[in-house]
Amino acid sequence: MDYNVNERGYYDEFGGAFVPEMMYPNIEELRENYLKILNDQSFKDEFSLLLRDYVGRPSPLYYARRLSEFYNTRIYLKREDLNHTGAHKINNTVGQILIAKRLGKRRIIAETGAGQHGVATATVCALMGLKCIVFMGKVDVERQKPNVLRMKMLGADVVPVTKGNMTLKDATNEAFRYWINNPVDTHYIVGSVVGPHPYPDLVARLQSVISEEMKWQLEEHTGRPDPDFIIACVGGGSNAAGSFYHYLDNEKVKLIAVEAAGKGIDSGESAATIALGYPGIIHGSKTILMQNDDGQITEPYSISAGLDYPGIGPLHAWLDKSKRASYENATDTETLEAAFQLTRLEGIIPALESAHALAVLGKHKFKKDDVVVVTISGRGDKDMVSYIKYMEEKNF
Ligand SMILES: *Cc1c(COP(=O)(O)O)cnc(C)c1O
Repeated sequence: MDYNVNERGYYDEFGGAFVPEMMYPNIEELRENYLKILNDQSFKDEFSLLLRDYVGRPSPLYYARRLSEFYNTRIYLKREDLNHTGAHKINNTVGQILIAKRLGKRRIIAETGAGQHGVATATVCALMGLKCIVFMGKVDVERQKPNVLRMKMLGADVVPVTKGNMTLKDATNEAFRYWINNPVDTHYIVGSVVGPHPYPDLVARLQSVISEEMKWQLEEHTGRPDPDFIIACVGGGSNAAGSFYHYLDNEKVKLIAVEAAGKGIDSGESAATIALGYPGIIHGSKTILMQNDDGQITEPYSISAGLDYPGIGPLHAWLDKSKRASYENATDTETLEAAFQLTRLEGIIPALESAHALAVLGKHKFKKDDVVVVTISGRGDKDMVSYIKYMEEKNF
């Protein structure tokens, strides 16, 4: 089975580049250059130096002793929460800004929902002294004040989008529109393994540093580079793609991706795309998405803003269809319980997104000497309001 993107930008039937004709030249410029740049030695040197000294990589692979005892298996945590800015997203934005510079771009645009990708983008723009414009639905601007202020502090312009539902999908449309009108000097930093080809492949390659490190770190810890299981949460799917990347062709490693079931799969309030969605086109690529009978994209819901996305990257649509990875889900409540369990057993407060991955540990029967890697995609500081609310409800 082939899990790589083909030359036309497809993972089997999923992917492609469904963009307005006016945007084609921008996408084409990136498609023609991205592999050349990624393979260029000066790019590789600059990228690894920044990953080391700015992001703080390698991120540790931590043997979680008390969590392992609880589940009676061997659990390792890949600590993306310890990266600069608190999550895996910075791996991608650092890589893309280096590409933008090599393409001679002076301005960066991005769209953001929860604001996490906007902050990671504004951060690298400050680092490189490039102008940064972040499109964000007006509803999200109001919901995500701290991240909006962070972006502004970093020097970005945050543009509130007042069309449609005023959320992520509308912000994306606005970013596309801006790019069409400013093709020459602007690069569009997409934040996950979504969007038109080559973005899903580009972002997966930039995030693949996660599984690249996992290999030698597991070798050090356990004497072999391959775990038995890798578990990661999925919104668009970039931390999962990066965690799976170097193991895709090794079918002995079982891959588990966890979507947000929100208030329950059948509640009408969830973001479990693989569980509930059908093939369609979103953000310029053919994939699985949540839609109603008329093909209108349904508004997703999750307690974690980072998983609150109605689609999923085309690689994941294919990993599901080909049965290479299993797509599971966790509700808000299961996620909160898992976050408190990790906090109490290991002294690590995870992001709510990452806690979804932890929430399926109890649904599997692992053997005592299985090696299970869970990617902790981010830290929980940004989620303290939700955690405090839960403690008040439970009288902690
Ligand atoms: C954005 C985000 C996610 C979801 O994005 P993916 O592209 O699916 O990885 C997961 N965890 C954290 C901490 C995030 O900020």
